[in-house]
Amino acid sequence: MDISVVVPLYNEEESLPELMEWIAQVMTQNHFTYEVIMVDDGSNDNSWAVIESLRLKFPSLRGIKFLRNYGKSAALQVGFTAAQGDVVFTMDADLQDSPDEIPELYRMVKEQGYDLVSGWKKKRFDPLLTKRIPSKLYNATVRMVSGIKLHDMNCGLKAYRHNVVKSIEVYGEMHRYIPVIARQAGFKRIGEKVVQHRERKYGTTKFGWTRFINGFLDLLSVMFVSRFGKKPMHFFGTLGTLMFITGGAIAVWLVGSKLWAQFHHLKYRPVTDQPLFYIALVVAIIGVQLFTAGFIGELVSRSSADRNHYLIEKELG
Ligand code: UDP
Ligand code: MG
Repeated sequence: MDISVVVPLYNEEESLPELMEWIAQVMTQNHFTYEVIMVDDGSNDNSWAVIESLRLKFPSLRGIKFLRNYGKSAALQVGFTAAQGDVVFTMDADLQDSPDEIPELYRMVKEQGYDLVSGWKKKRFDPLLTKRIPSKLYNATVRMVSGIKLHDMNCGLKAYRHNVVKSIEVYGEMHRYIPVIARQAGFKRIGEKVVQHRERKYGTTKFGWTRFINGFLDLLSVMFVSRFGKKPMHFFGTLGTLMFITGGAIAVWLVGSKLWAQFHHLKYRPVTDQPLFYIALVVAIIGVQLFTAGFIGELVSRSSADRNHYLIEKELG
C-alpha cells in the first residue's frame, strides 16, 4: 500500500464527508493504493455515525473510536500503530489542510529521501492575536531549543516514511513536537514544504488558550530531551555534581584565605563573613532542589503514567 492518511478528529461531523470525497478523488487521480484511518477521539456529536456511513461508500476507510476524549496525541499514536502505507500522512479533519498537497509530499518522501516532511502554513487563515503571533514566537523558540529548522512545527499536515511512525511514541501534548521526537529517534532528514491553509469551514477550534500552558510545559520537556538525549535525568546529576564542586571550591577558598591571612599575620575580613550571604546561599540551593524535584515529577508523569493508556470502543475495517 502506498499511502495511509491518519485523521484525528473530535466533533467534526460536518467536515468528514467532504474530506473523505476529496482525499479519495486525489488518490484515484494519482493511482495511489491507500487507506484513510479516521480516529474519533471521543466525539460527542455524530462523527462516528458519519464514519460508519462513509465506510459503506469508501472501502478504503478505516475507523477507530476512543471511549472518551484522550487528545490529539493519543489519536495520532493509535493511527500510527494501525497504518500500513509506505508513506503515512497526518491531516486535520476540519478541511484546513488540503489533500491536494498529498502527491508532492509523497514524492518528497519517496524520491527525495526525506524521513519526514512537514507542511508550512506560510499564509494562515487564523486570528492574528490569538494564533498567528503566538505561533511565530512559539516556532522561533522551538527552533532555537531543538535545532530543527522548521517554520511550522505544529502543522497538522505531515508526511512520514513508514518506519518513522513505527519507531516513535506520541503522548501527552507531544503532538506539537513530533519532528523533535523523530529526530531524537534518529531520523535526521526532516524537510518542509509550503502548503495551502484554508479557513475552518465548520465547527470551531478545539484548542483554547490552555494550549499555551500545556505547550509550555511540554516545551520544557522537549528542551531537556533534546539537550540531554534519551536520559534527561542526567541533567539533574550534572547539576548536582556542579553544585557539589562549587560548594567544595567555596569551602576550600574560605579555609585557604583564612590560613593565608594567619600565615602572613594579616587581618582576615572576607566579604563572605556576612550571615546574609549564607542565608541567600541556602535559599538558592533549596530553590534549585525544589525546582529539580518538581521537574523530575513532571518528566516521570509524562513519560509513564500519561502514556497511551486509552480504551478503544469500536473499530471499523
Ligand atoms: N482534535 C482531536 N482531539 C482533540 C482536539 C482536537 O483529535 O482533543 C483534532 C481536531 O478534530 C482536528 C485537529 O485535531 O482534526 C486539529 O484541531 P483544531 O482544528 O481544532 O486545531 P487548530 O487548527 O485550531 O490549531
Ligand atoms: Mg484546525
